[in-house]
Amino acid sequence: MKVFSLPDCLTDSALLFDMDCTLYTHDEYARTQIDLPIERLARLQGKSFEQMNAEIAEFRKNWADSHSGKSISLGNILLAYGISIEEIIRWREELYRPEKYLCEDKKLRSALEKLKDRFSLAVVTNNPVSVAVRTFSVLGVHDILQKIVGLDTIGLSKPDKAHYYKAAELCGVLTRQCISIGDRFDIDIALPLELGMGGILVDGVEDVYKLPELLTV
Ligand SMILES: [Mg+2]
Repeated sequence: MKVFSLPDCLTDSALLFDMDCTLYTHDEYARTQIDLPIERLARLQGKSFEQMNAEIAEFRKNWADSHSGKSISLGNILLAYGISIEEIIRWREELYRPEKYLCEDKKLRSALEKLKDRFSLAVVTNNPVSVAVRTFSVLGVHDILQKIVGLDTIGLSKPDKAHYYKAAELCGVLTRQCISIGDRFDIDIALPLELGMGGILVDGVEDVYKLPELLTV
C-alpha cells in the first residue's frame, strides 16, 4: 500500500474505491476480465487469441512509449479497435462471472462497516454498474456500496474527470474531500491527485482491511 496524499481534514471526506483487484483479490478472475474480451475481439477480427493478445501487447507498449510510460485501460484499447462503449458494456455483462470466482468476504464487510460510519463511500469502476452490483452481492457488501459510478454511468473508460466529479456529487462532497483508492496508479490514482483528491494505491483487498485503522480521524 502507498499513500500518496490525504485531505488536510478527514472529517466529511469520501472514499472512492476502484472495484476490481481493489475490493477483492482473485488473479484468475481478474485474468478472465482481460482474456475473455480479447478472445471475443480475436473472433471478430478472424485472428487467433494468441495473435490478438500479441497485437494488444504491442498496442499497449506503443501507447506507453508515446504517453510517458503510462498504461491504458483495456476499454480504451477496445475503443481504438472500433468496439463501441455500448458493445463493451454488453460484452462485460455477458462475459464476466463474479459468482463463479468470488465469495462472501466478512473481513471486507467489517472494514467497510467501520469506514461507512466516518466516510461517504462510493465506487468508481470500468465495469458496468450491473457487474458491480453482482460483485458486491457475492462479496456480501451490496447494501454498503450503493453509490456506483460505472462504465455505463459516464459512457467513458477511466481515467476521466467525469467519473470523479460524479462520485463526489453522489457523496455530496467537494473533490478535495475525496480519496481515490485503487490498485493501478495510472488508472485510479494519477488523475484524482491532479484533481486535488487524496490517493491510496493498494496491492489488493488485504490493504482495504487496514484502512479503518490507517484513516483514523
Ligand atoms: Mg482495479
